[in-house]
Amino acid sequence: MDHASLSIATPAPVLTTGKQKAGLVLAGAGLLLVLVTWAAGQAVAPVPTLLAALSLCTAGVALFIREEYLTRPAGIQNNGAWFRSLSARGVWGWLTGVLITGFYVCLYWFPGYLTGLTQLFDPLSRLLRNTAADQWFVYGTLYTAAVLLMGVKFFYKYRHNPYQRWRTVSVMFFQLGFAFLIPGLLLRLQYPELYFTYFWPLSYYQGTPMAHAGYSGSGLGVFFFFFGLAMFFIGAPVLTYFFGKRWYCSWVCGCGGLAETAGDPFRHLSDKRLRAWKIERWMIHGVLVFAVLMTALLWVNVATGRGVLQAYSQFFYKSYSFLVGSAFSGVVGVGFYPLLGSRVWCRFGCPMAAWLGIWQRAKSKFRITVNGGQCISCGNCSTYCEMGIDVRAYAQKGQDVVRASCVGCGICSAVCPRGVLRLEGAEADMAQRTELQRAILFPSVPA
Ligand code: SF4
Ligand code: SF4
Repeated sequence: MDHASLSIATPAPVLTTGKQKAGLVLAGAGLLLVLVTWAAGQAVAPVPTLLAALSLCTAGVALFIREEYLTRPAGIQNNGAWFRSLSARGVWGWLTGVLITGFYVCLYWFPGYLTGLTQLFDPLSRLLRNTAADQWFVYGTLYTAAVLLMGVKFFYKYRHNPYQRWRTVSVMFFQLGFAFLIPGLLLRLQYPELYFTYFWPLSYYQGTPMAHAGYSGSGLGVFFFFFGLAMFFIGAPVLTYFFGKRWYCSWVCGCGGLAETAGDPFRHLSDKRLRAWKIERWMIHGVLVFAVLMTALLWVNVATGRGVLQAYSQFFYKSYSFLVGSAFSGVVGVGFYPLLGSRVWCRFGCPMAAWLGIWQRAKSKFRITVNGGQCISCGNCSTYCEMGIDVRAYAQKGQDVVRASCVGCGICSAVCPRGVLRLEGAEADMAQRTELQRAILFPSVPA
């Protein structure tokens, strides 16, 4: 007997085949080229090195996808999610977390340590934007490459599910077009570098007097300033009423885009405990209040002639920028993917998600309807809910899921083996809508 498993179906599951390992080695070699350049502090032959790194990563991911998904029938497989070192908080998971966290720490506070990478990406920056690369261009390029490469992987994993296919194409499109190519093109044309997928207060700078002053020389900049505010006050409530917060969190936003693609292998690590739900509600609404107060204080300061409030408003702004804008959204939000799951920022910290969540909970047609009689309590839905929602508890009670935090990713529905869950737009819960059909009509008894 060459294995200890008593399972009849898959007695000795091979989690990673030889060809998958070859794919991982190829992608790893590409990443290693980037890491060596980062560590060396200077790029040798940037163009060939960058081309080689990108080619190796693409070839590695393609080989992995082919072996993992295309040699098997369509259908979601999360085999070994709790046993693979990378996705089960093992050594590879911790190493990946430390590496990404280290990158974010350098990005925000020690950009001098990214000199090698800025040199590596410099030719690409000059080609696209006609200007030298800085740490933000390095970040944007790596971010976009991660969304695209892992987006293709996600696409094939969920290829039998049209909702997942369209959603993935959408986040890839918005990241590549509106958060990478268009801002680069604007810079090339000497306009402000505008990211059309981020609005105030997620992009907290955008609602400030500093942004207003900075944009005032450009008609497009002024339009963008008011467009962002209009999206917050009008676009967000209206679109959330019809579609739920998923229109933004799972179809447009770059943070959601990365979480859904590169973060997919870690979605089951989200904390499902009731305590986490309580913390989540306090934290995310606290950040929204913090963002609104900080912005209001800056404007009051300007309106009062930058008097006594100047120091306070700047202190508030810098505190928000450090604690929320950098440490939370970047370092913890992405660096901790392999430890806390892929949506820590969206769940606990994003002020835009808080705002959309308020509308989703108060007035939205979006709900996940439940055919409770079919539920076998397997728990797949709860396990793979990246927002830590205990979907199974709702299914067992036959109660529609209407939660402020739900980003409408649809994975709970996709992984349910019984077709219990359905993402819908309806005015009322399923229980109300089917009341008549479920009523038991007694035949009238003759007198
Ligand atoms: S409840 Fe379902 S649709 Fe909502 S966030 Fe969780 S997995 Fe996604
Ligand atoms: S995945 Fe489906 S069957 Fe399993 S617990 Fe959730 S709703 Fe029930």
